Amino acid sequence: MPSLYVHVPFCVRKCSYCAFYSLPLGGEGSERGNIFKYLTGLEREIEYCYTEAPAGVSSLFLGGGTPTVLNYQELDSLLKLIHNRFSFRSSVESLSIEKTVEANPGTIDQEKLAVLRHYGMNRISLGAQSFNDDQLQSIGRIHTSADIELGVKLIREAGFINLNLDLIFGLPGQTMEDWKTTVNRAVSLTPEHISIYALTLEEETPLGRRYCENSPSKHDNASLPDDDLQADMYGWASSFLNSQGYIHYEISNFAQAGFEGRHNLSYWQGEDYLGLGPGAVSCLNGIRVKNVQDIDLYRNNLVSGAKSLNNGEVEYLSQNQRISEYVMLGLRTTKGIKINLFEEKFKMNIQDIYGYKLVNYIDRDILSLEDGWLKINPAYLFVSNLILQDLIL
Ligand code: SF4
Repeated sequence: MPSLYVHVPFCVRKCSYCAFYSLPLGGEGSERGNIFKYLTGLEREIEYCYTEAPAGVSSLFLGGGTPTVLNYQELDSLLKLIHNRFSFRSSVESLSIEKTVEANPGTIDQEKLAVLRHYGMNRISLGAQSFNDDQLQSIGRIHTSADIELGVKLIREAGFINLNLDLIFGLPGQTMEDWKTTVNRAVSLTPEHISIYALTLEEETPLGRRYCENSPSKHDNASLPDDDLQADMYGWASSFLNSQGYIHYEISNFAQAGFEGRHNLSYWQGEDYLGLGPGAVSCLNGIRVKNVQDIDLYRNNLVSGAKSLNNGEVEYLSQNQRISEYVMLGLRTTKGIKINLFEEKFKMNIQDIYGYKLVNYIDRDILSLEDGWLKINPAYLFVSNLILQDLIL
């Protein structure tokens, strides 16, 4: 049973580092017409693509963009569409279904939170990013640190007991002391889950154009924390969050016991996922498809009856690609890869596939094979993508 991701491609305005597909919405003017286009398109996508109703899915993640930039009536329409078509079934019987919505401080209020609760949304992922107002402003965030605190208060008052805060390190001008203050203030709000991400500079973004090495308009990277400082920031946060009762269960993710993000875990465990909305990606039975990343094309294709939304972005994954992705994703988690599940899935022995490469990593104490699990030494988590390249077939 796949998980379900629904992409909501709107934000109040673009943050200067953001390369996700999202359109600035502005105020109550004509731009909101795009939301109507989006909802019409989404309704058709659900009708055309998934003819058997109700389709079972194991979790829901409403991401973006900023889903909470929709007003409460629009949120209601969106959630009604989804819940009319899909049935939510837990893959682990004892656990309730996880339904997450991404939100930004400054875009939530009691009415919207009540709509989310009405549809059983039970986890909120709040894009806090920093508690330093100057840094928030410098990366184009629409909110202040006070807005984060107010958002958390509203979320708790609405009855949500599963809250994630996203934080970014490596911001321009950020010092270790700034980062420690940010993480401390996040912890003081007692979220059940905290995600920490290194700032990624994408060349097509304003921040990327300003700082990327290869950018022709690069003029200054003096104020970006260097790689060593970023590694120190990551290492400090990992130890500190552990000392505060958060379990480090994936490169970027820390949770109180029982609050690990199940939707994202399903990606890292190589399970199928269904993505709806412009720019969303699905991967079902080894076929990965990306929806067209343009709101007009998306809606017009669907309304005109064209069932293909992908503009040719279809990838048929080979067995080697599937194995490589399964291994690289699984080793992002501290639990690692369960060897007998791997063998069940691929009908092959992992040691036969990797041979001396695996032995080499184990000899160097980068990986270990214990009690039927292949795991990464936590000291190498932050750089796992770089040092495990030999495992890509
Ligand atoms: S709020 Fe998130 S999705 Fe929207 S522009 Fe900022 S980083 Fe991108």
